[in-house]
Amino acid sequence: MAQVRVATFAGPGAPPVIRTVPRPAVPKNAALIQVGACGVCGTDLHILKGHWPKPLPWPFTLGHEIGGIIVEKGPELREDFMGKPLAVGSRVMIPPLMPCGRCHYCVHYPESANKCLTPVYYGRYLGFEKPPHLWGGWAEYVYVDLDLLPGTKIYKLPDDMPLRLGALAEPLTSCIRAFNRAVRAGGFRWGDTVVIQGSGPIGILAIAAAREMGAGRVICVGAPETPRLELARRFGAEATVDIEALPTPEARIARVREIVGGFGADLVMDCSGHPSAGPEGIEFLRDGGTYVEMGQFTDAGSIQTNWHRICAKDLTVLGSWAFTANDLALGVAMLDRARDRFPWLAMQTLYPFDEDGIARAVADAMAMRTVKSTIVPWPELVQ
Ligand SMILES: [Zn+2]
Repeated sequence: MAQVRVATFAGPGAPPVIRTVPRPAVPKNAALIQVGACGVCGTDLHILKGHWPKPLPWPFTLGHEIGGIIVEKGPELREDFMGKPLAVGSRVMIPPLMPCGRCHYCVHYPESANKCLTPVYYGRYLGFEKPPHLWGGWAEYVYVDLDLLPGTKIYKLPDDMPLRLGALAEPLTSCIRAFNRAVRAGGFRWGDTVVIQGSGPIGILAIAAAREMGAGRVICVGAPETPRLELARRFGAEATVDIEALPTPEARIARVREIVGGFGADLVMDCSGHPSAGPEGIEFLRDGGTYVEMGQFTDAGSIQTNWHRICAKDLTVLGSWAFTANDLALGVAMLDRARDRFPWLAMQTLYPFDEDGIARAVADAMAMRTVKSTIVPWPELVQ
């Protein structure tokens, strides 16, 4: 085997072309991995539709949901990222975006290292900056070199894990992280009712993750019935809502709320990638519920329609409505403690308690002529 066959695409819309590249020599801290299975991800589809927001090194090899076997490795590559020993014959997966560990985000916001400024990603290996290269998984082999790109990470799979199962590790991980984000925000607890929007691969894996991580009930909103909603139920969704059978958001909201009952779902997670999913999905929630946006990441919108940026920027967006009974004492305490640190009273324009005074207080507030129109029935009390 002196040649390796890889599938490359010349650009969005182009058909795949099988090309050959020389089998690389494997230096001391590198490995050649035979691909057993590699998934087709929604990200790949977006890239092939031309939705990727940044330039890509076309032509290149797609595929980042890889389950493979190390067939050759250098003597210094002894363990995976988690410290597990690696050998020829080890089953492994490698992720698509590997944080460098050294940039500002990796160092200072490790929980957001997925936003690494200089990640190891497609197309940087082996002098194959001029593609085709040996990185994407839609190929017979992929190649990694930890000396060339120290951010590279290999994850060992259990020895008896089927490679097809290993190929699901990367997309499932995205779902686990999304639920853990909700846990950290205090928005996902054991027994919660969860609605998953979307029944693609991420939606299906999110059903599994929800159940494994403690959801009490899981409902899936998606399409089509065959094969997707059918599979959603096999993964444990107690009910599915077919968006093709219920084409309006109003009908779907009513149906979901009927299934969920009570005040609405505790957690809704969008895995659909559909631009209108967010505004619809928040209506599935009870007051005080949690919404996780993980389905939309391409820069398909504008500043007016930028809901997808919640996902793409890995944001935490919180709603806050008024206050609870326990909060009010905090307000009184802050005013007391900071009474001399801010010109509080400069906010207020005072009006007497008569019809003209009240009318002016309201009119001035409406016209934004005042900051805080304030009515004073007994001026002697506020000298
Ligand atoms: Zn980094």
